[in-house]
Amino acid sequence: MLIKTVLNRLARFKGFVFGNVFFRKVEGEESVVVEIFPRKRSRPVCRECGRKGPRYDLQPVRTFQYLPLFDFKVFFLYAPRRVSCALHGVHVEALPWGSGKEHLTNDYKLFLGRWARRLSWSETARVFRTSWDSVYRAVSYMVDYGLNHRSLEGITQIGIDEIAVFRGHKYLTMVYQLNEGVRRLLWCGIDRKTDTLLSFFKEFGQERCALLEYVCTDMWAPFLDAIRQCAPQAKNILDRFHIMKKFGEAIDQIRREEHKAFKAEGQTVLEKSRWALLKRPENLTENQTARLADLLKLNIQSVKAYLLREDFQRFWEFKHASVAGRFLDSWCKRTMRTKLEPMKKVAKMLQNHKPLIMNWFEAKGTLSSGAVEGLNLKAKLTMRKSFGFRSTDSLKIALYHTLANLPDPPGTHGFS
Ligand SMILES: [Zn+2]
Repeated sequence: MLIKTVLNRLARFKGFVFGNVFFRKVEGEESVVVEIFPRKRSRPVCRECGRKGPRYDLQPVRTFQYLPLFDFKVFFLYAPRRVSCALHGVHVEALPWGSGKEHLTNDYKLFLGRWARRLSWSETARVFRTSWDSVYRAVSYMVDYGLNHRSLEGITQIGIDEIAVFRGHKYLTMVYQLNEGVRRLLWCGIDRKTDTLLSFFKEFGQERCALLEYVCTDMWAPFLDAIRQCAPQAKNILDRFHIMKKFGEAIDQIRREEHKAFKAEGQTVLEKSRWALLKRPENLTENQTARLADLLKLNIQSVKAYLLREDFQRFWEFKHASVAGRFLDSWCKRTMRTKLEPMKKVAKMLQNHKPLIMNWFEAKGTLSSGAVEGLNLKAKLTMRKSFGFRSTDSLKIALYHTLANLPDPPGTHGFS
């Protein structure tokens, strides 16, 4: 009796009434079962057109899982009617608590899906004694709804990056919106080819592409290519973070080779030097700072490469693009005169991408340079948290679910 009162407060389904409430074993577990009946003389609704039609026949009684009560699972017990629609023929009626094919009610899917944002999918399944598959269906329901109901208005800044998935065997191309206050995942697709990004632009639509002002990327040529094709008016900006990452990679390569050579001679000069040389001085621990001070006294290649990078940091501080441009040229010239091959490669890359790098100065103050990196970090966290992903499909759904700020489907009574 009490439960029926609660249910009537929670969920009133037009045209239906709650019947008896009792305990019964469902799926091997003692559960609360609530009968539902259609109101007398009510007619079933066609799920295609939403119009009422005559009842054709009655289907066998089925269970629909609803929100848990205390620690009990709750199921609705209902015998769906088949409606005979003049337009759409005979089929199972529309049900206000869910789809006729699904065993989970919409409210329950919303409930599971919201938990799956906080916990991993496997944890969610464990806590609510349900299957991974139910959590998967719950999240897909929310993502489907969200993608169909989100607004794509006013997008002028996007960032594109790739992340390695499935232990580096595959890549996902990630497209983020970077506008102040609306940083979110817009799209993700398998692979990182020109075609991958082209399919985003196609879905995004020509009109929206034409509104793009800034596109922030790394130096991955297939991406640059797709942007030139679909959003030629947008300023393509090479992200500071990605450029400096190349410096880090070059220093590390030089350091590793040099360390190997030293070790072969029985010297430990470069022992424990990696982070001292790779991190920016302001991010070093006390020990690393001391280590760096020692290293800087040495006239070795790793240190020369390190000093070249630290010198290049000035580039980002210039106020005038023209001054910065001259600095970049002179830095490259100096570097090309050294014997530091990996650093020379960086210099060549800077020269080849100079116009795009210089775009950074135009976007300064408009575009937050760390935004893409921050979002990518979140994406990696989502992947780590959800070790249950067996397919790129479920992985994509999880990424949209946590990173796309999608609107939630409405609950029957607006619980949140
Ligand atoms: Zn119909």
